[in-house]
Amino acid sequence: MEERVFNFSAGPSALPVEVMKKAAESMLNHGGSGMSVMEMSHRSGPFEAILSEAEVNLRTLMGIPDDYYVLFVQGGATLAFAMTPLNLMNGSGKADYVITGQWAEKAYQEAAKFGDAHIAASSKEQKYSFIPKVMASDFRQDADYAHITWNNTIYGSKYSGIPDTGGLTVVTDMSSSILSERIDVSKFGCIYAGAQKNIGPAGLTIIIIKKALVGHAKENIPTYLDFKTHADSGSMYNTPPTWNIYISGEVFKHLLQRGGLEAMEEINKRKAARLYDYIDGSKLYTAPVAAEDRSPMNIVFITGSEKLDKKFITEAKGEGLVQLGGHRSIGGMRASVYNAMPEEGVDRLIDFMERFEAQNI
Ligand code: PMP
Repeated sequence: MEERVFNFSAGPSALPVEVMKKAAESMLNHGGSGMSVMEMSHRSGPFEAILSEAEVNLRTLMGIPDDYYVLFVQGGATLAFAMTPLNLMNGSGKADYVITGQWAEKAYQEAAKFGDAHIAASSKEQKYSFIPKVMASDFRQDADYAHITWNNTIYGSKYSGIPDTGGLTVVTDMSSSILSERIDVSKFGCIYAGAQKNIGPAGLTIIIIKKALVGHAKENIPTYLDFKTHADSGSMYNTPPTWNIYISGEVFKHLLQRGGLEAMEEINKRKAARLYDYIDGSKLYTAPVAAEDRSPMNIVFITGSEKLDKKFITEAKGEGLVQLGGHRSIGGMRASVYNAMPEEGVDRLIDFMERFEAQNI
């Protein structure tokens, strides 16, 4: 393949070309240091500048208040599933989870190992085709926190507002929608996200946590899993994923240049509306998620025939529209259209879908 493709992967996924070009240019000699960022000591001046600039820019982008830590760690969102209960199930030992997909379920199962985890609501029986409408009475009011999965990458659903938990601390997995829209960080106790969708390369996890919630971890937990370890050391307790932090920092700068998260939200809404509107008007495709809960990031659709779905994915690939297969557990199609997917990619996909529909209906 000579040209770059339109990559609809759910993650790791497309990154801004401008960022990758800049990284390529500085690959052998970053900023006159005579070396790549990959080769730099994490304790060196240039890297410390990269880390602090990344944090400042992320704080600006997301409007993160001063009473929140921003932690750069490893282990993916999967390790954050465990870190959350180990750090926060520290009062009654209870935590309430809303199950909106496989990742939410995995987060819940991890918490159930360490304390009294409870399912407040679930859409599992309905194949996770919507976000359950919950109210304060669905949550145990003495729970240490409520956990929600803001965007459900596999099923293509997303919260459009924080549910009423009756004032519980809300913890959320925002892996697949962070930086795609403006959110009010102050309404959450903790937000965590794996980097490999909207932030940067796989291998970095970002945890944004209210300072008051740090320092109350269960006893005898591994040092690395205690939020306080990373908070006290400015994410430098051990060697952080230096290259990933560098690229993510460049993505933050790039997003600020593009107008920040308000601008991204507008573009993302436009991209998603175009695709969903086309799907809803077509005779061949259907989007199974309830209209009000549809994710602008992961757009899931089917033809109703597994054979036709496979044909779609193969033929799309032939046109440079790749990674359109749904998650291996559910099949169908999924177009992940994170920040780095240009509007042109969505238009090209719709153009292909129209032609495929005309030929196969
Ligand atoms: N949560 C969500 C919403 C995800 O989409 C994913 C992975 N795609 C995970 C958690 C797991 O993340 P990781 O592979 O970074 O552990």
